[in-house]
Amino acid sequence: MGDKEAEQKAEPGKLTADQIAVAQKWIAEKGPDWRCPVCERHQWILADHSVRLQVQGHALGGLGYPVLPIICGVCGNTFLFNMVVMGLEPSLDEQQKGGANA
Ligand SMILES: [Zn+2]
Repeated sequence: MGDKEAEQKAEPGKLTADQIAVAQKWIAEKGPDWRCPVCERHQWILADHSVRLQVQGHALGGLGYPVLPIICGVCGNTFLFNMVVMGLEPSLDEQQKGGANA
């Protein structure tokens, strides 16, 4: 069925294979021995989807900061990393100029 293909391509917020590769490399470089501050283990899981931190006073789906949740696979402690800094998303300026997604 074509529906399943379209879903995989178009699911909003789902990380692409390229983004996953960049994120994994980024984590390995920035925190090769990064341990969870709660359980002190080193077992991180990338979320399947990115998340947007909504800016106060803006409509849902409007201006926001894209962040990637990285989850401790042992205790569930979750970190949010800015995807612009990670090189995974355009900056807020670029979002506002483009703004095509809304
Ligand atoms: Zn943990």
